[in-house]
Amino acid sequence: MTDFAARAVALDDADPLAHCRDLFVPSPDVVAYLDGNSLGRPLRVTSGRVTSFIENGWGGRLIRGWDDASDPDSADPDIAGPAAVGDWLTLGERIGDDLGRIALGAAPGQATIGDSTSVLLYKLVRAALDLRPDRHEIVVARDDFPTDRFVVEGIAAERGVTLRWAAGADEAAHALSDRTALVLLSHVAYRSGALADAAATTAGAHAAGALAIWDLCHSVGVVPIALDAWGVDLAVGCTYKYLNGGPGSPAFAYVAERHQGAFGQPIQGWLGSAAPFAMGQGYRPADGIRRVLSGTPPVIASLALRDTLALLDEVGTDAVRAKSEALTAFAVELVDALLPEAGLATPRDPARRGSHLTIDHPAFPELVPRLWERGVIPDFRTPTGIRLGLSPLSTSFAELELGVRAIREELHASAV
Ligand SMILES: *Cc1c(COP(=O)(O)O)cnc(C)c1O
Repeated sequence: MTDFAARAVALDDADPLAHCRDLFVPSPDVVAYLDGNSLGRPLRVTSGRVTSFIENGWGGRLIRGWDDASDPDSADPDIAGPAAVGDWLTLGERIGDDLGRIALGAAPGQATIGDSTSVLLYKLVRAALDLRPDRHEIVVARDDFPTDRFVVEGIAAERGVTLRWAAGADEAAHALSDRTALVLLSHVAYRSGALADAAATTAGAHAAGALAIWDLCHSVGVVPIALDAWGVDLAVGCTYKYLNGGPGSPAFAYVAERHQGAFGQPIQGWLGSAAPFAMGQGYRPADGIRRVLSGTPPVIASLALRDTLALLDEVGTDAVRAKSEALTAFAVELVDALLPEAGLATPRDPARRGSHLTIDHPAFPELVPRLWERGVIPDFRTPTGIRLGLSPLSTSFAELELGVRAIREELHASAV
């Protein structure tokens, strides 16, 4: 076991991203945070930026901030990088462009941030159905996250379309037919961590005449994504997981430029309309990605994720993926050696998984609270899963080793 501890130290010493760990706000009572895939940690720089926004941006500019692009924050020498918030109305689109360039492989004008993932999923699936009006089936994975299943179940009832349930993202191709309007799949499965072949599955959907919508919640910021190159039609994802946007930070939507003209917004609000301040009669959608929006964007909740985007831009997503693969490989080794009685629900091939691992054992439900008490924080996923979320910018090999060793200790303690 000391063997693994020494290996972890050596891996941390050789880690080119090790310096990033010090950029995060410390959590004194936490010895191993293995849940950055559910709620990422805050960067230290974020608190200064949020405070400055409250004092200078919101407090100083008041209502003028919505369309006044002169930015008091940018004059503050302590606030470098992406601090200049600019006018609040276009902040979402500007963040969308950065997100597109840094993390989504998307040219400008195709992404924005706005509502929760659930709400954006609803909008995108509804709009996609209208883009394929003579087709009446949606392909969705049985093992997908609840919101994704619930949203399409609701839309199926509302619109009289049929759901075709695939066992998982990679089995979706078998459910395609000339009746399929769209496939909705997760790029990385929230439970198993399996990474779907988004390029091939998108191509398969297109060959059947269907559209492909990807949920990127568990891949954005940690797995290389190339939406434009893969020909993806629509995508959503959240920003509070690997992008460290904070609890309740807004989700993003991607709508490929070729679909924007015909994109029909199911929640018509003033801010997605062509001329919000004309206050006129009759909804006319805005040109471009802004038509995905409905109402006032959550400005404060949009601030933190820019700091992680800036950091990702600096270190590069390839370095992040390389560390992610190293972390998950080390985790598999640790689980094999220290937790042989647990089942590994995650693919063993690093190329086939995202940045988290799920292990199963019947004792895990009662074990997780004891782990949290000792400052070891993995996630529990019903019925018997522990999820080890490994966030390459903030997770060390040492804390991973410590975490898996703690699970072993608690498991053996509960067996006696
Ligand atoms: C985290 C997650 C969500 C979250 O949806 P919200 O509306 O932001 O709460 C949705 N889908 C997947 C696949 C997720 O992992």
